[in-house]
Amino acid sequence: MKIIMLGAPGAGKGTQAKMIAEKYGIPHISTGDIFRANIKNATELGMEAKKYMDEGKLVPDELTVKILLDRVAQDDCKNGYVLDGFPRTIPQAEVLTAALEKMNDAVDFAIDVNVPDENIVNRMSGRRACLTCGATYHIVHIPPKQEGICDKCGSALVLRDDDKPETVLNRLKVYHDQTQPLIDYYTEKGILKTVDGTKDMQEVFEQIVSILS
Ligand code: ADP
Ligand code: AMP
Repeated sequence: MKIIMLGAPGAGKGTQAKMIAEKYGIPHISTGDIFRANIKNATELGMEAKKYMDEGKLVPDELTVKILLDRVAQDDCKNGYVLDGFPRTIPQAEVLTAALEKMNDAVDFAIDVNVPDENIVNRMSGRRACLTCGATYHIVHIPPKQEGICDKCGSALVLRDDDKPETVLNRLKVYHDQTQPLIDYYTEKGILKTVDGTKDMQEVFEQIVSILS
C-alpha cells in the first residue's frame, strides 16, 4: 500500500504517518526528517537544505526528488510506504507518478489532513521534536511523560527553528501557493481522501483506518 499524506505544515501528517506505518508494517518516509538528519550530521545536502528550511521555503525539487527516489528504491519499500511531506509541489508529484508508472504501479491513497490556518500556529509553536529519533509531541495536546525529554529515546526535545511563529506564517503561504494544488491533482486521479485533522489524534487515526480498510 502506497500512501501520501497531504496537509498544511503542522496539520498532523507526521503524527498520523507514524501510526499508519506501525499498524500496516510499512516504512514512514519523511523528507523533512531526512533533511534534519543531514543537518545534524553536517552533510553537504544538510547544509544546502538548511538555507531554505530556516526561511520556511521549500528545498529545490531537484534535490528533494533525488533523495526521495533513492529512499523508495530501498528493499524495505517493496510492500509500500507512507510518504509524509512529499510531494509538496506539482513537479514532485509528476516525478513520483512517472517513476511508479514505469513499474506499472501507482499511489493508492492521498490523505489530506485538513486543519484551518487559525489552528496551525498554535500546533507548531507547541510542537516539540526529538532530533535523534524523529518523535514529535505537543506541549498541551500530546505531552511527553517527562517535560522536555523524548519518551522513546530519552533525548532532549527542541522547538524546531522553522516552527517559530514568523517562519510558520511563511510556511503557510508556501503551502497555499505550492502544495495545495496537489489536492486537485490527486482528486483528478480519484484517490484523494480528506480527514478532519482538528479532532484528537486517535479520532483522526480512526478516520484514516476506515479509509484504508
Ligand atoms: P506535520 O507532520 O503535519 O507538520 P505533526 O504531526 O508534527 O505535523 O503535528 C504538529 C503538532 O501538532 C505536533 O506538536 C503534534 O504533536 C500536534 N498534533 C498532531 N496531531 C494532533 C491532533 N490531532 N490534535 C492536537 N495536536 C496534534
Ligand atoms: P517537514 O518536516 O515536512 O515539516 O519539512 C520541514 C522543511 O523541510 C520544509 O519546510 C521544507 O523546507 C523542507 N522539505 C521537506 N519536504 C520537502 C519537499 N518535499 N519539498 C521541498 N522541501 C521540503
